[in-house]
Amino acid sequence: MEALQFIPNNINEECGVFGVFCCENATELTYYGLHALQHRGQEGCGIATSDGQEMYRERGEGLVTEIFSGKKLTKLKGDCAIGHVRYSTAGGGGIDNVQPFLFRHHTGDFALAHNGNIVNSRGLKQMLESQGSIFQSSSDTEIFAHLVKTDRRRDRLIAIKEALTMIEGAYAFLILTNRRLYLCRDKNGLRPLSIGTLNGGYVVSSETCAFEAVGATFLRDVNPGEMVVFERDAEEPQSHLFSVDIHHNMCAMEYVYFARPDSDIEGVNVHRFRKTCGRLLAQEAPVVADIVIGIPDSSISAAIGYAEESNIPYEMGLIKNKYVGRTFIQPSQELREKGVRLKLSPVRSLLVGKRVVLIDDSIVRGTTSTRIIHMLREAGATEIHVRIGCPQIQHPCFYGVDTSTYEELISTSHSVEEVRQLINADTLYFLSEKALQQAGNRNELCMACYNGKYPTALYQTKRELNIEGKF
Ligand code: SF4
Repeated sequence: MEALQFIPNNINEECGVFGVFCCENATELTYYGLHALQHRGQEGCGIATSDGQEMYRERGEGLVTEIFSGKKLTKLKGDCAIGHVRYSTAGGGGIDNVQPFLFRHHTGDFALAHNGNIVNSRGLKQMLESQGSIFQSSSDTEIFAHLVKTDRRRDRLIAIKEALTMIEGAYAFLILTNRRLYLCRDKNGLRPLSIGTLNGGYVVSSETCAFEAVGATFLRDVNPGEMVVFERDAEEPQSHLFSVDIHHNMCAMEYVYFARPDSDIEGVNVHRFRKTCGRLLAQEAPVVADIVIGIPDSSISAAIGYAEESNIPYEMGLIKNKYVGRTFIQPSQELREKGVRLKLSPVRSLLVGKRVVLIDDSIVRGTTSTRIIHMLREAGATEIHVRIGCPQIQHPCFYGVDTSTYEELISTSHSVEEVRQLINADTLYFLSEKALQQAGNRNELCMACYNGKYPTALYQTKRELNIEGKF
């Protein structure tokens, strides 16, 4: 894919989850909620529902609007639902890995949707298989379901709590039964999960932007290490802590790149966060220039912040074509060489003769930056000063984000000056870790892909992870 077109970045989020508890039109609400979360995963999606007696599930590979025609939606009955959008990293692609998973069991059916990645999955899978479990998918998420199912003696609530203490990594889980909806967030709080209210019922979402889409009101975030249980006929949801070793290590890249700017994550609006990063970039790395431009969409907020702080005008120097779908015919190599560009176009009349500050959210492989800089120079920019809204990405992510391997990360093996030369920028600067903390007004954040300080053990050997000699 990399060679085919201009893609604004090379990082992909794994998933988004959305749920509804005791609301009319639960299926349609989940459809609209998932549509608002589509940026978190485009490879597959699904919805599971319950009417209190039966559970139903529909899923498929593709976008929410592609998979859920009216006919499919009408098969999903009930006033409770969970949904999932998927970008496949752990487990790979294929319909078997599209969530929610639905498990039929004599102790009661349940559906499961997961955002994140379980880092001790391999050992747990071996243990479960040796005890007779048979897995239907290659997804790490199914391991959690087997841990819950294998505990046949006790109440499901206790079984889930027990299973949560056995898994490590990043997760926001939604578990739906005919009686209850469980929400669980890992003890480091790596992935976001928020609760809203709607018409006397509840909605839950990876991002608060989906609440706006369905007309819900934000209530609160699920805390790290917390399980929230909604039960039919119960007056209030119940909160249970399943860990005492709790940290607030929200993924910094949620703020920097993944989340929609209209979402609030743990009380901080994403657009504001990025704009503050832009301001801090201007303070840390000022430069004399004529215009500031941002790479659409995720770098626009930081570009506005840089422009305001530096008093250099912000211009729409790059335009994104929003209608390039997955099925769009990709141009041949010959046409690409002739300048056919699908996703981004430079605005020549704004760029010609200008010294440009180019704001980007991150650099992964560097190939995209190289092409964009080449395109801007071709369009007449005389100087290009690149400012990046996060530190250098030097380590892979093991928590459900596809930030490539060490070999593919340009900053693993190159200094800032070497990267500058490779991408052909006049100057290059990466925002500091301190500035990210300042922008979020918080001390704790996961920044492992910048500094290698992973908040959990990684379990597999360094040789298997291909990180021998990296620490
Ligand atoms: S390693 Fe990076 S991408 Fe992964 S959770 Fe931490 S900050 Fe996010």
